[in-house]
Amino acid sequence: MENLLTSLVNNNISYTKDGNVASYIPELSKTNPSDLGICVVNLDGKEYGAGDFEKNFSIQSISKVISLMLAILDNGQREVFSKVGMEPTGDSFNSIVSLEVKNPHKPFNPMINAGAIATTALIGGNTLEEKIERLLEFTRKITGNDNITYNKDVYLSEKQTGNRNRALAYFMKSNGLIDGDVEEILDLYFRQCSIEGNCRDIARIGAVVANDGIIPWSGERVISREVSRIVKTIMVTCGMYDASGEFAVHIGIPAKSGVGGGILASVPRRMGIGVYGPALDSKGNSIAGIQVLQELSKELDLSIF
Ligand code: GLU
Repeated sequence: MENLLTSLVNNNISYTKDGNVASYIPELSKTNPSDLGICVVNLDGKEYGAGDFEKNFSIQSISKVISLMLAILDNGQREVFSKVGMEPTGDSFNSIVSLEVKNPHKPFNPMINAGAIATTALIGGNTLEEKIERLLEFTRKITGNDNITYNKDVYLSEKQTGNRNRALAYFMKSNGLIDGDVEEILDLYFRQCSIEGNCRDIARIGAVVANDGIIPWSGERVISREVSRIVKTIMVTCGMYDASGEFAVHIGIPAKSGVGGGILASVPRRMGIGVYGPALDSKGNSIAGIQVLQELSKELDLSIF
């Protein structure tokens, strides 16, 4: 497996030249566009990596998978999906248009920014600090990595420039879709997006979801089979921005990407995969990361379809 992963990185590294690192969050523009790494975590706990798989990066929207799981654990799926839908959009991840023109006004799904802000607003805790600590603790548990934390520089950079997210949140507040202090909810959202991890960390999350909610290395159940099914389904339909349909056709694996260049993938009952390559295509997905996943999916026949 290690040889296969090494050849996938070598075969596809040249694609990194065709993309650009995200710059709308200024701190993210400091990443090295030619990085590329992959890690596979099997359900028997075996782990394999190649390239820059141990390099930390900003998980950004991959955190939406984590906050969705925690929000459902805290509130139940009925409450969560009363605030956010389950439908894909053809719109970009930070689009505001359908919030206003569609009725009901709730965001289409928990993987776009509006939906993720509504989901994050449901995370339990008495104070902002308690909420972020709960989110970090949950992330540490499903990554098996006690050092997981968020990057303060990325968080502040996003807080300073996140006016589009601010607009989405205040709009949802005006429609009664989120309760509580909007700035505090946004602060939690910005910190959650700034969580750092490497390919192994996100591959392990993928393995927990692939294993129907049971942590492969400890045997502990963290989410029900039902919630793990919901998460995988929403990843398939909505996880790769407005390229989710194409990704399903060519690769066929539940996955969630982030503008930090990570892709978390979860092959039901087989493995979790983490990919990192910060040079992005025009839709916001890792340009070389997609190629690596496409080759891996073909090689190991991973498509669920
Ligand atoms: N923190 C980013 C934002 O809200 C997340 C975007 C992403 O990774 O898709 O714009």
